[in-house]
Amino acid sequence: MVRDVTAALEVLPVYRYPLPGYDPLIANLDKVRGRIREIAAGSPVLALEGMKLLSPVANPGKIIAAPVNYAKHMSEVQSDSQLNAGNPAHTVTIQKAGLFLKANSSLVGPGEGIALWHLERRNDHEVELAVVIGKRANNVSRKDALDYVAGYSIGLDISIRGQEDRSFRKSPDSYTVLGPWLVTPDEIPDPGQLDLSISLNGEIRQNSNTKHMTLGVAELIEMASSFYTLYPGDIISTGTPEGVSPIVPGDVIVASIEKIGSMEVKVRAAEAVSAQTTA
Ligand code: MN
Repeated sequence: MVRDVTAALEVLPVYRYPLPGYDPLIANLDKVRGRIREIAAGSPVLALEGMKLLSPVANPGKIIAAPVNYAKHMSEVQSDSQLNAGNPAHTVTIQKAGLFLKANSSLVGPGEGIALWHLERRNDHEVELAVVIGKRANNVSRKDALDYVAGYSIGLDISIRGQEDRSFRKSPDSYTVLGPWLVTPDEIPDPGQLDLSISLNGEIRQNSNTKHMTLGVAELIEMASSFYTLYPGDIISTGTPEGVSPIVPGDVIVASIEKIGSMEVKVRAAEAVSAQTTA
């Protein structure tokens, strides 16, 4: 069951153009959570079943992602020409490669599903722990880094394999799935000890633990904030373990992370996008 606490959003400040470059809900999360506590008991109770879950962050300023952050995933990429596509970038460690950015327009929630582009190419699932930044972070050291986290979600970094830059291959609409909800850090004191898995049509494909990450959450925040300022609502997708595999229209993904939960995501083909107004 869920509580409809939409009314708590009334505590958000009213923004006028030019709009801030960060997510207003995450920037005011403490205020909103306080209001939620006040109204939750008297709010309508709805069944979770059948509810269309959107991304828990609606307006991130940026979506950051970690390449090859699990040793066994790096090995499978290096040894499988379908995965590395002869792209020399795949032999570079995360310490040398740094991080990459995904287009904000790629972000959806689990209820919206994944619409595959370029069906003639190999499209893969990648399950990742996603970190949502809670406050402005600039040159943060790893020992302080977890203080800047607003919460955690499950992230899917859907990827077309090939020669292009990661930012291009991983940015089609719907190729970043965030959900099923945001779990605040009081429930996850150690993000470096979480089982994570993905099943495809009922068959387990990826099954690992975040303790196998090359750079942990704190190190990733340190690295990211040494190159750009992080703002409330910025998302860091922390990389995927081994076991990635192709997805095609009709597939059903179930992604799970310990202490967060599970989300089902359906895969379909993208409809041809014609010229549309921006409304
Ligand atoms: Mn990834």
